[in-house]
Amino acid sequence: MDLRLTADDVALQERARAFTEDVLTPLEDECEEHDGLTTESHARAKRAVLDANFNAINHAHADGGQGHDLFEQMLIEEQWGRATGALWDIPWRPSIPLAAGTEEQKERYLRPACRGERRDAYAITEEGAGSDPTMVQTSAKRDGDGWVLNGEKWHVTSGDVADFFLVHTHVDGDAEKATIFLVDKDAPGVRLVRTPKYMHTFVFEHPIFAFEDVRLDDDAILGEVGQGFELTKDWFVEERLMIGARTVGAATRALELSLDLAKDRRQFGQAIVDFEAVEFMLADMAAELMAAKSMLYRACWQAARGSEGSRSERDQRERSPQGRGGADRKELHALAAAVKLVCSETAGRIVDDALQIHGGRGYMREQPVERLWRELRVDRIWEGTSEIQRLVIGNELKKRGPGIYTGWPGVSG
Ligand SMILES: Cc1cc2nc3c(=O)[nH]c(=O)nc-3n(C[C@H](O)[C@H](O)[C@H](O)COP(=O)(O)OP(=O)(O)OC[C@H]3O[C@@H](n4cnc5c(N)ncnc54)[C@H](O)[C@@H]3O)c2cc1C
Repeated sequence: MDLRLTADDVALQERARAFTEDVLTPLEDECEEHDGLTTESHARAKRAVLDANFNAINHAHADGGQGHDLFEQMLIEEQWGRATGALWDIPWRPSIPLAAGTEEQKERYLRPACRGERRDAYAITEEGAGSDPTMVQTSAKRDGDGWVLNGEKWHVTSGDVADFFLVHTHVDGDAEKATIFLVDKDAPGVRLVRTPKYMHTFVFEHPIFAFEDVRLDDDAILGEVGQGFELTKDWFVEERLMIGARTVGAATRALELSLDLAKDRRQFGQAIVDFEAVEFMLADMAAELMAAKSMLYRACWQAARGSEGSRSERDQRERSPQGRGGADRKELHALAAAVKLVCSETAGRIVDDALQIHGGRGYMREQPVERLWRELRVDRIWEGTSEIQRLVIGNELKKRGPGIYTGWPGVSG
């Protein structure tokens, strides 16, 4: 078993780390102090994304993306996750279900989004529909040759900078006919309801939008009527793995900052790192981080490359995010749930200890650990709460047994 990263992987990781340090972290104070970035800073950062070829890391070259597999995406997102203010969201990653569009839809939405000329936001959640998307009330009804869409969506991340939405809708109000509609933000009937404030400082907003008698043609349907839940699940899987990556990156930074501070800070005549209470906190942080990271890397490797043969064989073909070289769709869903659960919960404990080790300074917004403490809380909630991840894992155990979690790639049974 060779656990070493390839030279290409290491180079990619270093490039992502440099991008974080050169482009993202210098924007942290501005983002925190002004609750977002100025138009000029955002434009400069967008330019830097394009210059570094970090636009659309999750889409195929053919659509204008970078063609990175899930393992490579994870390596990149881990480094970006070190930045506070959710600045990792500046490098746009158009939602993966857009790859299921028709040629015309790709030309209109996906490819401009990969180039950074358009931006999407994914709208599933509603006031009455969160963990259970079958409760969605947004509905589309046939009207002549087209459709009329009505509903209201909550927490639409990046909805302020997006210019189109993937709207999770029930055709005829029937959950069996869950369908994704592509809706332009400037379409008549789309209305910004309000932009609530949240606990974290996020470079963009999470507004509420109403869809009031929005008229759409058949070509607004992504995939087919009834395919909505499947497409949304693909999005969840990718996002859950990337949450795993970013929380591990964030927790690594929190540990590094805490160790540095504990070595420097002196109380009672000695460095606080030499108090066993502090040393043991650091020890737990390091050990738990190692466990979470090992799991993240293993699951992403399995998802991307688990049964692909040699690296050169893999390089023979265009790598695309859909080219899941190991785990099938169901396995990936099961793995992603465990990764998100463990990484987000572990990182939550680590940033809490990091804040404690920083003492009163840790409570100051000018300190990265304070921001990480606020920001990582949502990782146990969005893209499925920790309880929902446990439900996915529990269902997997009941249906297929523990193998996917307790076994190892290459070993059957
Ligand atoms: C900052 C932010 C950004 C977001 N961005 C987006 C976005 O871009 N697009 C989008 O569509 N949504 C987005 N969301 C919504 C997010 O995905 C939901 O908040 C999340 O799925 C939980 O749904 P809910 O808030 O309705 O909570 P609820 O579903 O009401 O859950 C409340 C509590 O009940 C628990 N619970 C619910 N069902 C069960 C069960 N079966 N078993 C055990 N416990 C259960 C939950 O775990 C939770 O603790 C965002 C949310 C936030 C906070």
